[in-house]
Amino acid sequence: MDENTINPVSKSLQDKFIEEQSKGKVIVCDECSEEFKINTVDDIKDTEVVVHGERLFLKYFECPKCEHIYKINLDNSETMLVKKEYQNALERVQRNKAKHRPIDDKQLQRVEKLKRRYIDKCEKILIKHNVSFTKLATINK
Ligand SMILES: [Zn+2]
Repeated sequence: MDENTINPVSKSLQDKFIEEQSKGKVIVCDECSEEFKINTVDDIKDTEVVVHGERLFLKYFECPKCEHIYKINLDNSETMLVKKEYQNALERVQRNKAKHRPIDDKQLQRVEKLKRRYIDKCEKILIKHNVSFTKLATINK
């Protein structure tokens, strides 16, 4: 295994920011051992699924050979709101940075707090809906 090889199930799926990190990296499928790369944004797919009566937004990629679905993230309407809040706060900081304006600690703390809240909420959803999405995502295609 070279250092660019990541195991999609064990480590990176717990990382909510895998989307950026996984681009261009070699992924080895757990199911069929196929090696493939996530090169473009198009490789990351979005779909809506309903699990236990709850509407969820699934972000995933799939193995090109066996079509096994790898979950990247799972959002519900609540986490979508927190995510939006987090992104807005982050954009404000980045805008200020670009304009060389001073950034106060409160702004940065708020970004961190929202990020943590978002990750916590997402983890709870992943635990609550610990199901295989292979079929669900195929149905929604
Ligand atoms: Zn596979």
